Amino acid sequence: MDQEHAGEDHICIVGAGQAAASLALRLRHGGYSGALTLFGDEPHPPYQRPPLSKAYLKREWTVDRLYLRPAEFWSGVGVDVVTGAPVTAIDPVARTLEVGGRKVAWTKLALATGTRPRPLPPEFAGISGVYELRGLADADRLEGEIRPGRRLLVLGGGYVGLETAAVAAKAGLVVTVVERAARILERVACAETSDVIRALHAGHGVRILEGRSVAGVEARDGTVAAVTLDDGTRLEVDAVLVGIGVLPRDELARAAGLTCENGIVVDVHGRTSMPGIWAAGDCASFPFQGLPTRLESVQNAVDQAECAADDMLGHARSYAPVPWFWSDQYDMKLQIVGLNRGYDAVLRRRSERGESLWYFRAGRMIAVDALNDARTYMAAKKLLEAGAVVTLDEVAAEGFDPVARMKRAAA
Ligand code: NAP
Repeated sequence: MDQEHAGEDHICIVGAGQAAASLALRLRHGGYSGALTLFGDEPHPPYQRPPLSKAYLKREWTVDRLYLRPAEFWSGVGVDVVTGAPVTAIDPVARTLEVGGRKVAWTKLALATGTRPRPLPPEFAGISGVYELRGLADADRLEGEIRPGRRLLVLGGGYVGLETAAVAAKAGLVVTVVERAARILERVACAETSDVIRALHAGHGVRILEGRSVAGVEARDGTVAAVTLDDGTRLEVDAVLVGIGVLPRDELARAAGLTCENGIVVDVHGRTSMPGIWAAGDCASFPFQGLPTRLESVQNAVDQAECAADDMLGHARSYAPVPWFWSDQYDMKLQIVGLNRGYDAVLRRRSERGESLWYFRAGRMIAVDALNDARTYMAAKKLLEAGAVVTLDEVAAEGFDPVARMKRAAA
């Protein structure tokens, strides 16, 4: 098999999502002038995923607006975006990859392969009317179900499930959310935040059933018609959205012998266990606060990718982020800053417009959930970025003002 790009400087990026796009742009801005190719398995240039369960599903945004850059932009900066091109193997020793029966040589390689939805529960195998929401094509399929009066079962009370439930309820569907864990958003937030979001959905007529799972599925003419839960509850449905979490896409890396453990293991620079190969974004597990950490967020996709790109250009720096996340449901904006891992106390603060939940570990603030409270979110973000030690006692004190505290930290 002939090798394309043999003998020339060629950086390849496997993946064409947010991390891949950020990495490519950083390489170009950082002065890399050799060949640069992104391989994506979807038929689109790099696009934003967050709107898929929000503005795009509501049809407020068109496909063009999802694109991170217009399709023609990439060739203008010398980035070859190869779409519909799943990479099937990488060879870290020969420094090649295989795609569409072709062998392509690379001098450096970055894996930005992202995640894929957890497999559907087996009860749904072969039944239509059951949807996932990860890519643009998934959103297009699901949108056909967003019609008033239809009965939608949402399996999974994480971000995908709750954002979709909000869009569907606003559109006049009859929505039930079934969450296997004891409460919605358990993976990412404290019970107080779950309570606020649960009440928000209840106010829009969404029924949320927690601590339940699917025991059986009935189909009519091959399409889902009813779902029975483990407590015997039977729900008649027209469609099911499954949003039960994602898994890192690390199979190429595994097959090539790279160290993987809940994702492709990288160091603080984004280097994998094999020289010449980096990884970034949802697929990568990196050391953070003394623990292997895999973040599924836009912030991480962008910042970790830029850090890896800098290292590829010989400017090593350590990736030590202040993570942030957000979710839009109805007129509620949930903004999270910091990682609440290992928290042992939560304080609730109300402001004129919204409220916030402050997480502490050993008396020190480590994260904040802000609910319609952008002012507090910004202040907490700046405090965490400045490394300020904000104690439980000071946040609990009468008259605590996060913005004033932030200004003091900055002075
Ligand atoms: P997620 O946030 O991990 O939530 C999935 C939820 O489904 C978990 O609570 C999980 O509980 C539950 N679950 C798992 N298996 C189940 C089952 N068989 N029946 C019922 N519930 C079940 O994942 P997601 O909502 O699917 O989101 C996928 C990815 O997209 C994540 O990376 C997410 O961060 C990202 N995303 C983010 C946003 C945002 O930030 N606003 C929006 C959309 C998507 P267990 O913990 O018990 O497994």
